[in-house]
This record gives sequence, C-alpha cells and structure tokens, in this order.
Amino acid sequence: MALPEAPAALAPFLQVAADPSAAAVRAAATGRKILGLQCARLPEELPHALGLQPWRLAVRRTATRHAPSVMQTFSCSWVQALLDQALSGELANLWGVVFAANTCDSLQNLPDIWRRTVNGPGRLHVMHLPALSEGHAPLALLQEELARLARWLERETGQRLDRERLATSARLFNRIRAALRRLLALADRGEARHSWVQGAATGAQLLDAELAAAALETAVDELVARGAPEERAPVRLMLVGGLLDDLRLLEWMEEHDAQPLVEETCTGARTFEVQADIDEADPLADLPRRHLRRSRCAVCAGSGRHRAATLVASVRERRAAGVVFLPYRGCDPHAFDNVLLAQVLHDASIPHLTVEVDPQLSNWGQVTTRLEAFLELCAERS
Ligand code: SF4
Repeated sequence: MALPEAPAALAPFLQVAADPSAAAVRAAATGRKILGLQCARLPEELPHALGLQPWRLAVRRTATRHAPSVMQTFSCSWVQALLDQALSGELANLWGVVFAANTCDSLQNLPDIWRRTVNGPGRLHVMHLPALSEGHAPLALLQEELARLARWLERETGQRLDRERLATSARLFNRIRAALRRLLALADRGEARHSWVQGAATGAQLLDAELAAAALETAVDELVARGAPEERAPVRLMLVGGLLDDLRLLEWMEEHDAQPLVEETCTGARTFEVQADIDEADPLADLPRRHLRRSRCAVCAGSGRHRAATLVASVRERRAAGVVFLPYRGCDPHAFDNVLLAQVLHDASIPHLTVEVDPQLSNWGQVTTRLEAFLELCAERS
C-alpha cells in the first residue's frame, strides 16, 4: 500500500532533516549565528533568547578521514564523525559550540582534543550535566552550570539576558514540542509517518522558531483534516539508541510495512517529551528543574536499571511487536545498558535484535538484511 504524502508545510523540515549538517553549514555561511549544542539535553531557550540559533549538532554521512590522526579509532563512531567534520573545517562558520561534560568517555575528551586540533569555531563552552536526577546536588549543580552558561553567552554576545525574552523563547519551544507531540499521536494512529516526526524534530532546529511552530501547527491541522487512512497493520518496532539522525532507516522500515517507534532514542520523542516543557511563568528557575524531569538516557547514572524497569511496560503500552537496539560502534554507555535491557525483554518473551551501526550506516546491507529477517519474525508472532 502506498505511503501517505507529507503535508506541504512539512517540506522545509524534511529538507533539513535529509542532511542537517549540510543545512547548518549553509545557514552559518549566510551569517546566521548558529550555536552547536553537542547533546539533546542542553537548553535551547537560553541561547535563543540572546539571538542565537541553537542547533543540536548532527554529523554528516561521509566517511571519517581526519579523526583517526588525533583520536583513537575505538572511540565512539559518532564522536569521531563529529570531530572529523570539525577537522575538515566544515563547522568553522558556526558561532560557537557547547559541549556536555559528565556524559561518556568519548565526549569527555572531545573538548580538549577539539581545542588543540580544530581551527574554528573559537567560541567553545563546556557545561557539566549531573549524572544523577534526584536530590539537591544535581539541582544545585545545574543551577550553577546554567548561570555559568548564561554568563558566557552574555559575555560573548555582548547582551544581557532579558527575562521577558527568555519567557518568549520558552513559549516558542513549548509550542514546537506540543506540535511534535500531536504529530507523534497522529503517527501512532497511522495518520502520519514516524519518520516525519523525527524529521520535523530535527528540521525545527534550523528553521526560525516562530516559523517552525506555525508550520508544524499547520501540518498537524492538515493531517487531522485528512482523517484516518485506509486500514493498515504495520509491525510496530521500538528503536533504542542515541543520536540516530539519519532518516533512511526509519524510511526503509516504513517502506517495509513497519512502524518505527522513536521514544527511546535521543533524536526522537526524548527531545519533546511532555515533562520537559518549560514553566513559562518562570523559565529561568525552571530550566534546571526541566532538565531533571527528562527521561534518562544511557549516560545517566543507573540508567540501565532505571530503563530496564520501564522498558517492558513501554513496549506493551506502545503495542510494539519487538525492539531494535541500534548502538553506535564504540559506544560503551549504550552497550552496557543494552545487556540489561535485552535481559528483561528476553524474560518477558519480547523479541529483540541488536544491530551495531555507525552514523554513515556504512553496513547498510547487513543492517537491512537483519532487519528484514527480524520483521518477518515479529510479523509471524503478532
Ligand atoms: S553514542 Fe554513546 S559514546 Fe557516542 S556520544 Fe552517544 S553516549 Fe557517547
């Protein structure tokens, strides 16, 4: 059965999402002040309120060439790809980059290597994120780190952070997240594609936030007006992974009568989950609290146990027929968590598959062959 056509309002988002890195490079070349955020958990509202365009860094698809001369090849393939891009000079026109510390070993070392080997952008900042989510210490650390980030941004932009402007930015990003959640709900009912949801979340980061919010709302309204499509029963697969920006895998699954669910990836619903919305009444005070409300990813302390405790319920609630783990080559945090997650799925008799990938999806043939076999298995069981 033919897949539905995307609403015209989604076209700019999907164009960006087809190659977000190239889109960011193009946008920076036109003079837009793009601040690269290395992790999806870094705050967008704060730089936006100071006139910057926050962009969660995504890596390009071309093979890694320069990184092995300054970083061990066993390091995370995503981090190598990002460094490679910086070494080739492609990111030189970004206004600046914010790194997240206290995450994984590969990222922990990246800012130091970057400072010594990369020519531009020169504005670099490292923000420490707490490994824990409960208690006073993580909140205190976040308050201090956000204040430090705000001071750095004020100094570098030469502007004062205005509370009203921050509230306006918080409202805008909340609108974008709300529209993405509505789009996800439509995708769950088969009235939109999950690849559009992820594409829209990625694309929204490089479009003007005001225009992005309006266009997303238009697209959702159009889809609601279209109504329910013909009855289809695709196999629902929950994806588990990190910054899986490349839409090709999601699109491949949809073309093979599967529905990829993107709640458990750092590029999917984790970026617009409801509990992460900002309290518009006091965004500055809420920014650290917001961070602690977010669901845990593989770099949080105790993430394996925490995620294992919720994964089976989530698979059942989302009516997924199976789970596909897509760890990046060289990623230890996901590799450690996945052992625990695979065990609980095994105990609950939920089919699961692990396919190691790299950001270029260079093992495309192997990935799709294994996915095809897994899909057949899940289809037979559902
Ligand atoms: S994929 Fe894994 S190792 Fe790489 S940046 Fe993410 S958490 Fe770190």
